[in-house]
Amino acid sequence: MASSKTRVCEPPAIGIDLGTTYSCVAVWQNNRVEIIANEQGNRTTPSCVAFTDMEECLIGDAAKNQIAMNPSNTIFDAKRLIGKRFLDSTVQNDMKIWPFKIVEGVCSKPQIEVAYKGVKKLFAAEEISGMVLTKMKEVANAYLNADVKSAVITVPAYFNDLQRQATKDAAAAAGLDVLRLLNEPTAAAIAYRLDQKPTNRSKPTNVLIFDLGGGTFDVSLVTINKGRFEVKAVGGDTHLGGEDFDNQMVKYFVEEFNRKERKDITTNPRALGRLRVACERAKRILSSTTFTSIEVDYLHDGVDFSSKITRAKFEELNIDCFNKCIETVQRCMEDAQWDTSMVNEVVLVGGSTRIPKLQQMLHDVFDGKNLCKTINPDEAVAYGAAVLAANMSGKGNKMVKSLVLLDVVPLSLGFEMRGQIMRVVIPKHTPIPVTKEVATYTNHDNQSSVLTKVYQGERSRSIDNILVGVFRLSNLPLAPRGVIKFNSRFDIDADGILKVSVEETSTGQKGIITITKDKRRLSEKEVGRMLQDAKRYKDDDQDYIKKIKAYNALEDYFYVMKTKVNDDNIRQQLSQEDMRKMDDLVHEAWDWLKTNKLAEIEVIENKMKELKCAYDSIIGQFM
Ligand code: ADP
Ligand code: MG
Repeated sequence: MASSKTRVCEPPAIGIDLGTTYSCVAVWQNNRVEIIANEQGNRTTPSCVAFTDMEECLIGDAAKNQIAMNPSNTIFDAKRLIGKRFLDSTVQNDMKIWPFKIVEGVCSKPQIEVAYKGVKKLFAAEEISGMVLTKMKEVANAYLNADVKSAVITVPAYFNDLQRQATKDAAAAAGLDVLRLLNEPTAAAIAYRLDQKPTNRSKPTNVLIFDLGGGTFDVSLVTINKGRFEVKAVGGDTHLGGEDFDNQMVKYFVEEFNRKERKDITTNPRALGRLRVACERAKRILSSTTFTSIEVDYLHDGVDFSSKITRAKFEELNIDCFNKCIETVQRCMEDAQWDTSMVNEVVLVGGSTRIPKLQQMLHDVFDGKNLCKTINPDEAVAYGAAVLAANMSGKGNKMVKSLVLLDVVPLSLGFEMRGQIMRVVIPKHTPIPVTKEVATYTNHDNQSSVLTKVYQGERSRSIDNILVGVFRLSNLPLAPRGVIKFNSRFDIDADGILKVSVEETSTGQKGIITITKDKRRLSEKEVGRMLQDAKRYKDDDQDYIKKIKAYNALEDYFYVMKTKVNDDNIRQQLSQEDMRKMDDLVHEAWDWLKTNKLAEIEVIENKMKELKCAYDSIIGQFM
């Protein structure tokens, strides 16, 4: 839909919501934000990357569509891994449910192991996120008929320094210059403000942004006054969202299948994957109806599965998660010292906020206050990011140009003192950008070097927090303890990224904590390699889309055929021999589908012709 009118000398900057489960891209154009649909016409794209035995690396819808067939090489949830260590408990727990394999890399960096073109290959989480960002950039390029270079990319407000750094690396791998890492709830607050009636924009508004997506939960309290957005508190859970609701439903049906059929499907990843897809669909339906059914043909050992679930049962399965959301909201309100009467509006963001029970629970907490549902929960974050991208590149209307963002540090930052005590230099919820300096002294007589370990978190023992960087200052002048003085300076920029410098005052010897050189971060060479790879993956992607369409068409045809063959009215009209022929045809087609997922497009198309011909010759005459 790109027109010559939209072609500008300099490509516009875009806004990307890099979500755990879905990503969305938007741009400021024609005096408004436009959400850009992908090649399938979808306004959000699954944050999913798949590798196959053949030639392909798939990104987005194409990857998600084949997830049940290729579970161990289809990567999702990379955002849950980004900036984490292999031994982190969240990584260890996720590994238990993920169908793909994670191994420990250098410096405890988790690596995703896949079979790509028949060969084992390792990827870092930021590489996978980089591929998703590449895809989003391509979606924008196609729409704008331009080569987009820069973007505002959103991150959860509670992302720590390492997670932010890793997100920047992912962007670099996608060849994108990051204008700003913007906190997701702040982005949603911007979208909310632009959506407000101009008459309501004159007074200061306190909003609570409630963002519940596929894998993460984010709460923010924001005061908006004219174009100024001041974040008062943030809270959330890196491990709470729609996928947990899907998992509960999967568990429920696995037990039911076991009870009814005496068969355990937990050792069959493909069956689990297909059941999960069906559960996610059922969950969405239950947001608008109170009852739905679930059907999975040939779920396990050739046995079909069919069952029902009510909204009430779904709520019962997930009530603990829902309660956790409400508790987080209450804790965040306490942090900001707000009471419910101070909140003017509760803004719902993220696909999972469509769940009626959650809406009702929030409604009750806020004394029956209406929840704002006018902004699209799937698009608000990308919308806000596009507004900031316009603002930072000098575009946009008066409202966009007047934007002032005052974000906060989500977690305290400090360094380790003797006895593994965490000394906080920048407390949580300090507005950014910020610079703070503190003085420290040597601990021992004739100490010749000092090790600075920077941590992020709220625990008093340093080792219970997240280690974000380490460095040593050596060759100190020898002196009794407490004489040598250091000035430590903590700088946090508008992206929420930290730089620490430590200076020994008598000699002026200075060390800058180069968190950017953390061994777990990617080197320039690695980023360069990823950029090249990304180009290759894009071509693979195009080819596969065509192939998967042909395969899906064949599979759809098979199901139509199977239904007809099993229809009693039709069977009555068939001779014994034709009936047997048709039953054989169905079985043979099913086996073919199972074993030829990776067939070439021509082979799939030929199979379709063959099947149609055989079917028409017998059943076609009765239709
Ligand atoms: P993220 O930001 O984590 O990528 P999204 O905000 O895109 O996630 O939300 C995706 C989640 O929302 C998925 O788990 C999806 O199943 C869920 N979801 C989408 N629509 C509905 C609905 N109608 N009812 C319940 N859950 C939904
Ligand atoms: Mg989101």
